[in-house]
Amino acid sequence: MTCHNCQVECKKFGSNRAGHQRFRCRQCSRTFTESGPHPLGDIRLPLDRALLCLQLIVEGNSVRSTERITGVHRDTILGLLEVAGLRAERLLSERIRRDTTQRRSMLRLYKTVAFSSAKNQAVPKLRNGPW
Ligand SMILES: [Zn+2]
Repeated sequence: MTCHNCQVECKKFGSNRAGHQRFRCRQCSRTFTESGPHPLGDIRLPLDRALLCLQLIVEGNSVRSTERITGVHRDTILGLLEVAGLRAERLLSERIRRDTTQRRSMLRLYKTVAFSSAKNQAVPKLRNGPW
């Protein structure tokens, strides 16, 4: 890992509580943590609860009923929907070109997310979408 300030290679410096490797710059003594994979971006929610929230939304539940069922705050659910929608859009444009069943389900997820997170706004068009 390289120091963000000095652009010098850092030395290993133990690990944090989550078990991620820490590094310390030899020049300025700042410490950094090697970031692990973040499938949900900045949302700190266990993956199983996030998946439950998404499943409830896709099945037609409202954001507030999903909040009541799961106990996850509605703003977190909306942020989760935004992340899922953006990831779905990226996956759709990068990998899925021929399989219409998968494409339809991804499009349904994207539209659900877009309608849920941006009420009274037009659903933005997907980039490179074949529809
Ligand atoms: Zn440094």
